[in-house]
Amino acid sequence: MSSTRVLVLNSGSSSVKYQLLDMRDSSRLAVGLVERIGEQHSRLKHTPLAAGGESREWTEPIADHDAALKAVSAELAKDGLGLDSPELAAIGHRVVHGGKHFTEPTVVDDAVLAEIERLIPVAPLHNPANLTGIRTAQALRPDLPQVAVFDTAFHTTMPESAARYAIDVETADRHRIRRYGFHGTSHAYVSRATARLLGKAPEDVNVIVLHLGNGASASAVRGGKCVDTSMGLTPLEGLVMGTRSGDMDPAVIFHLARVGEMSIEEIDTLLNKKSGLIGLCGDNDMREIRRRIDEGDERAQLAFDIYIHRLKKYIGAYYAVLGTVDAIAFTAGVGENAAPVREAALAGLEQLGLVVDAERNAVRGDGPRLISPAGARVAVAVVPTDEELEIATQTYALVGNA
Ligand code: ADP
Repeated sequence: MSSTRVLVLNSGSSSVKYQLLDMRDSSRLAVGLVERIGEQHSRLKHTPLAAGGESREWTEPIADHDAALKAVSAELAKDGLGLDSPELAAIGHRVVHGGKHFTEPTVVDDAVLAEIERLIPVAPLHNPANLTGIRTAQALRPDLPQVAVFDTAFHTTMPESAARYAIDVETADRHRIRRYGFHGTSHAYVSRATARLLGKAPEDVNVIVLHLGNGASASAVRGGKCVDTSMGLTPLEGLVMGTRSGDMDPAVIFHLARVGEMSIEEIDTLLNKKSGLIGLCGDNDMREIRRRIDEGDERAQLAFDIYIHRLKKYIGAYYAVLGTVDAIAFTAGVGENAAPVREAALAGLEQLGLVVDAERNAVRGDGPRLISPAGARVAVAVVPTDEELEIATQTYALVGNA
């Protein structure tokens, strides 16, 4: 029997998101989520797309990731898709930080696990959970290839001029401080899908990708390769996000410590969890912010304006980095859905060939689509991201029909 299925796992510290895909036609057989692992009220939501699509949901204690994955397998098994199936070709894992080392998706062995572990100091929130996910899956199916797909990999093509901070080189190297970038799987997928939309090969186009979700990042992609991205050592740098500040003078941190008498942990929480849109106006959901703006709320308006101002600066910066731009692609929750954000981000940039067609921008749709007018010098596109499909595709490409 040929093995054509790939299970994609995105393991967080207390959650596991999963999708089972059939790579013959990239169709989704099942998707789901386990939340609040380790708590009394853990929740599992499973949608068997290949078997009717009616979601099943239950709440009961799930002690750890091992129990979570066994529960997922039990749900999949109800439709004959369990983890013990010979049709499963591989398990693809999202791993947030691959450092400089991992430039490609990689079949996991002991050395790979050790390297992901070595990177924990630069990704203390994510890599431990990703490792737990891999180890748990290995224990359940030791015979199966486990593939790590890194959020940072797409950005490893950045030149040193973009990847280095201008700080003492020895200090930076000793602590592995450099700009790694994140959301790489999405930037890779969207930049290629944008080229396809234009009817061109990725090698032949320069694209600015704006991944605007709760986390947000921009990237400059030249001929299919990333040459700059807005997130850095951690996902804190760059754009204004749902709860993260993005760029600011690093001396704000010294000031908060010295004058504000805040601890490093408090400042970390402030900048990662209580800043960005939520810090500026109390809401991090763009739908809610737009609703408040429509009611004349000034704080929501200011938060929106700051968000757009930063976004526009990055568009200008990456235009300059690339020199020639063929397309700008908006993706993720805000990028795919918030027409006012797309309109405002490009307003006034006609001199750069950037124009948004109001009618096209207003149309809702599922697939990749152009929102620039016919014949525009630079294509402006909405390109829905699909990180799970990209992880499955990369995983399957690596292990083939083993
Ligand atoms: P994550 O970074 O968590 O993966 P998503 O890419 O799913 O985030 O984006 C989530 C965000 O997308 C929400 O916080 C909200 O701001 C925004 N969003 C989702 N749907 C809409 C919509 N219809 N209009 C405007 N913004 C939306």
